[in-house]
Amino acid sequence: MIELPQATVIARQITEELRGKEIIEALRGQSPHKFMFKGKYSDAEFAQIVRGKTIGKAQPHGMAILTDLEPAFILSLGCGGERILYHTSQKTVPKKHQLKLDFQDGTYLTVTVSGWGEVRLVEQSALAKHPHIKLGAISPLSDAFTFEYFNRLFDTLPPDKRTQKTSAKYFIISEPAIYGVGNGCLQDILYQARIHPKRQMLDLSQEERRALYDSIRRTLDEMVERGGRNSEYDLYNKPGGYQQILHSKAVGQLCPECEGTIQKAAYLGGSIYFCSSCQLECGKSGL
Ligand SMILES: [Zn+2]
Repeated sequence: MIELPQATVIARQITEELRGKEIIEALRGQSPHKFMFKGKYSDAEFAQIVRGKTIGKAQPHGMAILTDLEPAFILSLGCGGERILYHTSQKTVPKKHQLKLDFQDGTYLTVTVSGWGEVRLVEQSALAKHPHIKLGAISPLSDAFTFEYFNRLFDTLPPDKRTQKTSAKYFIISEPAIYGVGNGCLQDILYQARIHPKRQMLDLSQEERRALYDSIRRTLDEMVERGGRNSEYDLYNKPGGYQQILHSKAVGQLCPECEGTIQKAAYLGGSIYFCSSCQLECGKSGL
């Protein structure tokens, strides 16, 4: 799944590699996908509008990759599982795809959706209406994501309730949410902070809040620096260099930091991974 670090890596690569290229042909919907989010334009309208446009700057926005199609439009990709690939010849273009852009210099961009994801065209002036974009949201990779800002998010929690909706996992990926972080990046962020995904956020000490904040910054920075997580691929079909600590194959293995073992559970609509010893549901250990 494309989350903020991967979106950042791919957006940079699109800007470096594709900026200035003119699109001479656009094909969306060659292989229909039930969970490809298209927005308001039909495939035929998409092709007509995109043809003749020039690739501009791309930037990450949460889990989306927004690429300027000059003039006046934005191509929105990501928001799910996608292979976004650059090709220098027709030979590597996959047989089935949800988007193919042909550039004037004989190169191509393809997008293949797995699970769900979007290939959406938006007018630059209508970005505020994009359903998966929160304009004004604070990126955890930005300078505006300070510890003071992070601390203020705790004020949104109901003071007396202790439910799944006040757990660490819900806090980070749902509400109030760290923008662009999903279930993929969540696991190592919580592990590095020694916080269990089911831990009640209002029970965190100031030290634990600080550890979590530091872990969000450090883990996401490292994921970007290393070209994304190793479960994801970049524009050149290369897996990321960030080796995830907690993932399905680590289940049952010893924790790299203590005597505990890595465990898996289903929680809030997805798997959670954690160390049985340094991430305790009730807290106390680790810090
Ligand atoms: Zn451990």
